[in-house]
Amino acid sequence: MSSIDSTIQRITTTGEGETCAPELADGPWTFDLALPSYGPGASMGDVIPTGAPRQGQLPLEYQKASNDDLNARIVAAKATLGDRAVILGHFYQRDEVVQHADFLGDSFQLANAAQTVPNAEAIIFCGVHFMAETADILARSDQAVILPNLAAGCSMADMADIDSVEECWEQLTEVYGTEPDANGRVPIIPVTYMNSSAALKGFCGRNGGIVCTSSNATTVLEWAYERGQRVLFFPDQHLGRNTAKKMGISTDLMPMWNPNKPLGGNDSETLTDAKVVLWHGFCSVHKRFNVGQIDKARADFPGVRVIVHPECPMPVVDAADEAGSTDYIQKAVAAATEPTTFAIGTEINMVNRLAAQYPQHHIFCLDPVVCPCSTMYRIHPGYLAWVLEGLVRGEVLNQITVDDDVAEPARLALERMLAAKPPAASTQA
Ligand code: SF4
Repeated sequence: MSSIDSTIQRITTTGEGETCAPELADGPWTFDLALPSYGPGASMGDVIPTGAPRQGQLPLEYQKASNDDLNARIVAAKATLGDRAVILGHFYQRDEVVQHADFLGDSFQLANAAQTVPNAEAIIFCGVHFMAETADILARSDQAVILPNLAAGCSMADMADIDSVEECWEQLTEVYGTEPDANGRVPIIPVTYMNSSAALKGFCGRNGGIVCTSSNATTVLEWAYERGQRVLFFPDQHLGRNTAKKMGISTDLMPMWNPNKPLGGNDSETLTDAKVVLWHGFCSVHKRFNVGQIDKARADFPGVRVIVHPECPMPVVDAADEAGSTDYIQKAVAAATEPTTFAIGTEINMVNRLAAQYPQHHIFCLDPVVCPCSTMYRIHPGYLAWVLEGLVRGEVLNQITVDDDVAEPARLALERMLAAKPPAASTQA
């Protein structure tokens, strides 16, 4: 498994500017018992699945505590627990939480980082649900993975559920059959982005497929095309399209699969010609970026270096100077030796943190409106204090467990990914 990179650090800063939702000023517990929703932030317009995990009300003492009080309680609980607990903070997480993290990184780096603390009995993942699931798949059986707020899902991951993907697979199998071609390549290989449920990783493991990250998507697609004539890529259409296009595949050969329509809204001829079938999923954070923002950045700051995440729509990736994962963006900024103006197309918490970490550069987010990932926002220091103090009392709160029948094939799909690319270079958004 990959190890934590030395450029991954912890730093505190404060984001400022116009926000997309005034409710961002509220405590996330305001939304725990309200109608199921992702809460304020970039995914607030998305539809939350009916079966999405719900968070019960955070005890009042944590809701009412001041930030200073919460910080003091977190620090005290951490000190009591010592190496028995490790706190992981995702790049997109709020700074009030990140400041307590033992590791800051992307989801796959963090899942592996937890394993570098062998005494850890509890892994507290300050990220979203699929990340905690991946950590549980990779963790020892005696380690408990904890998600401080169960409502911290991922709207993109939720756009592909196991039943819809199974149904899609059945229809595609009817169109393609199961016979390999003259070169021994099967009709289609399923590829899931890391940002997906454990059930979908397990589906890939069971069906000759593989997981990819935003760093290794090209390598993984090459792996898939050695073994298959086509790829079913889910849940993020943009990462799939941007990667396949970079490999020289025509966008005409990338039909979209709409799970609500027969044959995904395609005819069998289109599916037969396809090189990659793209699931109709997207990240609401990265969907906010557009070409107009890039044009404005270039007009305002001649010579600006525009870097965007490959979850952004294709025209945005095409108009940018570079596209890469959170790890790529972090390293690109770290490697710049001359003072540079960077316009970055990814989540605001990470961009603000980079700006504070590298004051020699002018770093700003392409989106002028502060609109964080809605689900990362659901993790607040109050929840972190609550789960940590639970551990001090010997109580494991909000444990995320992946059943063995899902974890085993999911691990297989992850291992195929690692075999497709040396672990030291594997990272993800
Ligand atoms: S930024 Fe997008 S893909 Fe990442 S957790 Fe948030 S909604 Fe999901």
